Amino acid sequence: MNPSLQMAVPAAARRPPVERFRGQSRSRMLRTDLLAVLAWASVALAVALWLADGGAAGFSTLAGSFTALGIVAGLAGMDLVLLMLLLAARIPLVDGAVGHDRALEFHRKLGKPSLYLLLAHGILIAIGYGMAEGLDPVSELAVLWALVPDMSLAIVSLGLFISVVVTSLVAVRRRFPYEFWYAIHLLTYAAVLTAIPHQFSAGAHFAEGTWQRWYWLAVCIATGAALVHYRVLEPLVATVRHQLKVSRTVPEAPGVVSIELTGRHLDELAGHGGRFFTWRFLSPGTWWHPHPFSLSAEPALSGSSGRGRLRITVRNLGHGSAQLARLKPGTRVAIEGPYGLFSTAARSRNRVVLIGAGIGITPIRALLERTPFEPGNATVILRDHSEAELYLGEEILELCRRRGATLFHLTGVRSPGGQSWLPESAVRSGPRLASYAPDVADADVYICGPSAWARTVIGEARAAGVREEQLHYERFDW
Ligand SMILES: Cc1cc2nc3c(=O)[nH]c(=O)nc-3n(C[C@H](O)[C@H](O)[C@H](O)COP(=O)(O)OP(=O)(O)OC[C@H]3O[C@@H](n4cnc5c(N)ncnc54)[C@H](O)[C@@H]3O)c2cc1C
Repeated sequence: MNPSLQMAVPAAARRPPVERFRGQSRSRMLRTDLLAVLAWASVALAVALWLADGGAAGFSTLAGSFTALGIVAGLAGMDLVLLMLLLAARIPLVDGAVGHDRALEFHRKLGKPSLYLLLAHGILIAIGYGMAEGLDPVSELAVLWALVPDMSLAIVSLGLFISVVVTSLVAVRRRFPYEFWYAIHLLTYAAVLTAIPHQFSAGAHFAEGTWQRWYWLAVCIATGAALVHYRVLEPLVATVRHQLKVSRTVPEAPGVVSIELTGRHLDELAGHGGRFFTWRFLSPGTWWHPHPFSLSAEPALSGSSGRGRLRITVRNLGHGSAQLARLKPGTRVAIEGPYGLFSTAARSRNRVVLIGAGIGITPIRALLERTPFEPGNATVILRDHSEAELYLGEEILELCRRRGATLFHLTGVRSPGGQSWLPESAVRSGPRLASYAPDVADADVYICGPSAWARTVIGEARAAGVREEQLHYERFDW
């Protein structure tokens, strides 16, 4: 780092830490609970709309019962799909409360239930309508496709939903490159758009002039507007405003490269060290596949209008990340973000323990640079296979010296069966997390590294008395 560069210090970072962290943690928990209540209330409301419309009367006949259950399944399924879209819309209120990775985890968890509900919707409606008309379900579906407006679109939509959910299942997803899965996932939007017309044109539930129709329209439009705003407009504005360009690539270790970028108004991105952005490098061969990477250093300012530079550090894990080592200086970069809670915004305690492994060390490096703590109140634990894998080690050592943090560097092969996050040699001699950080139960614990490894650290932190609001980890697996 050039020592003449001046660091951007956001005003919020200058406030006394203790009260701010307790207060911000309580308010975050409250927002999380509120969002959960709102989400489940929306599903209940979707079904209540149907009951208010006299839907329960359908249960007077067997055919009517199938149709009624089909409608309820459709309403609940579609509501879950809209919730899934909102969870993936990068809405700051959601991201700031539950964190980006947990929002996406809920998004994934809703995938199968919503598909089952939509499948049940199609099957039950075909049975119910078919019984009423003396047709078998398959013939009824053919009649619906041919004669009922927008029903063919609805059937296409169901097919699209099935493809998206199946390609999202972990076992299937791992067989394809990230870029292929990403492209297939975009079909969700086509699936939702093709599902909407029949909801308003077929059946009397959302008939013109009813308040149910206005409510459903408002929910669909609000979801679409959130997606367009946060996934399209905000990234475009950020890209134009910050004018990021690659200035140079610096090899850090075999297969690991730091990418430095220059830009404008970078003071606005200060304080986000440890959070991640989605980066799209606008060069032939890379422009079409965006990748999430954390900042590995806080923005460094060196001129007027917030001019300065940013840095990310990338490990070559696949075809997409390998291409980044060959980026040419001057390559323009489009960004989305910052996202995630791997930052001071998640702090709830005065003490902090930062634990990183492999390339997960890089956001730890950025967080260490700026997150507030008194000397002696921070412990940094770095875990890697060999000395060569301690990326940015010199910088971390210097930051620990300067800020008064205790640093442990644990090198060595994994324990047999991966039952511990410690190297095999340390497992044999018996230290635990609390041996390195005796105050861990009263600290915020930030964990970043391979998922299986991170799980064992999280388990040990919980066992050492660390509460949920003190645990901060972010996953980049898709
Ligand atoms: C918040 C966050 C931010 C990230 N930011 C970036 C980024 O900026 N750039 C980037 O390229 N990637 C980033 N990642 C991706 C992620 O860290 C790696 O892709 C992934 O975890 C594999 O890392 P690796 O290959 O370096 O680790 P590996 O080389 O697989 O492992 C590193 C060390 O951990 C040990 N280890 C691994 N698994 C286990 C286990 N199960 N049990 C015990 N020890 C184990 C290994 O022996 C080794 O010593 C980020 C991830 C997270 C969660």
